[in-house]
Amino acid sequence: MLENKVQGHPDKEDLSSLSFGTLAVHGGNMMDATTGAIRTPLVMANSYRLPDDPSTMDWSDPDGLTYTRNAGHNQVCLEKKLAAMERADECAVFATGVAALYSVFFTFLKTGDHVVVGDVTYEAVWRLFEELLPKRYGIEATFVDMSNLDAVEAAMRPNTKLVHTETIANPTTKVADVAALAQIAHSTGAMLSIDATFTPPPMFRALEHGADLAIHSLTKYINGHGDAMGGAVIGRSALVRAIKHEALVDLGGTASPFNAWLIMRGSVTLPLRLPRQMSSAKKVASFLDAHPRVAYVMYPGLFSHPQHEVAVRQFGGEHFGAVMAFAVEGGPDVQNRFVSNLRIVTSAVSLGHDETLIVHVGAEGRGGSDRYPKLFQKYGHLRLSVGLEDAEDLISDLSRALDQTFAD
Ligand SMILES: *Cc1c(COP(=O)(O)O)cnc(C)c1O
Repeated sequence: MLENKVQGHPDKEDLSSLSFGTLAVHGGNMMDATTGAIRTPLVMANSYRLPDDPSTMDWSDPDGLTYTRNAGHNQVCLEKKLAAMERADECAVFATGVAALYSVFFTFLKTGDHVVVGDVTYEAVWRLFEELLPKRYGIEATFVDMSNLDAVEAAMRPNTKLVHTETIANPTTKVADVAALAQIAHSTGAMLSIDATFTPPPMFRALEHGADLAIHSLTKYINGHGDAMGGAVIGRSALVRAIKHEALVDLGGTASPFNAWLIMRGSVTLPLRLPRQMSSAKKVASFLDAHPRVAYVMYPGLFSHPQHEVAVRQFGGEHFGAVMAFAVEGGPDVQNRFVSNLRIVTSAVSLGHDETLIVHVGAEGRGGSDRYPKLFQKYGHLRLSVGLEDAEDLISDLSRALDQTFAD
């Protein structure tokens, strides 16, 4: 296996025999033939040496190493690793999660097409389908409550090309039944793309539940350290190669080699980080749920969560991610006071980092607050992404901040 790594990118057969923890360490890694360095070196070059006769080559070939916008050494290594982690044919890596998302939309949608999108979805996706794509490109979208399968079915039209949603939706934690959605999408010839940012492998693999494409913001759990941005689209070769040709080469949302290198390193510990974050999240959610000053907690692991049963079935019974939404009793100023009283939990956007992050999002969701559950509308919400600190420390920080907030 070592020779293999020196000579070329380890091939798919090679990686598919490895278990997840081993894959996280070795997947896509290549020893450096020149120096013998045992980890893939950072290659910052934006061009690669041409063959003796370049006149007949395909300059836009995303497979060969020619120009870093199309493919670079570090990005290719990361793509191999992520494809193997998802047990899929191929992966395309992008500069951000949003670049990965729009690459799917721009590759597979054209004027006159229709899309069915989850009514709770990442903000940039909401704006793309609410404004940019319909108004400038004539692509129509219907926003649907993905937990209502009859509504999804009713929204499908003959020209529906794509159904798009998140496994656990940001920020309300609404859970999508991926297998059921795949059946609906495929029955009318549409594709299903799943933003699985909240549910990375090994917790969940959307493709194994029937999705055509799995999309991740690598910025979140897969890098996991809050120090790099990236995105990935993973699926069958035919689909991902189309994305590479059209979106990577021609739209150019390429990840930098340095970020690909950082994500490669960060992802080594994914199988250690994720279970710990999920188990701490369960403890934190139970604590908050039992606290008299907490107005509500939305976490798929709680019995009170509207899609708890779907989550149990789909994620294997023990795993529910590590993000929750909640609010303390009171208006926006009370939420803010509570957040400012926290000492360990950091107030910042993003999620899936090593450190626990909280963000106070107001009651008004984009496109009208009625997309959000009643309690969200009443209190607003705090999105909490549980990190790697000791759960006991997190709980005592939350507990102390609650006491302080309601002391006067
Ligand atoms: C953060 C996030 C994105 C966007 O990813 P970026 O890397 O910030 O561009 C997309 N989807 C979900 C669910 C996210 O949480």
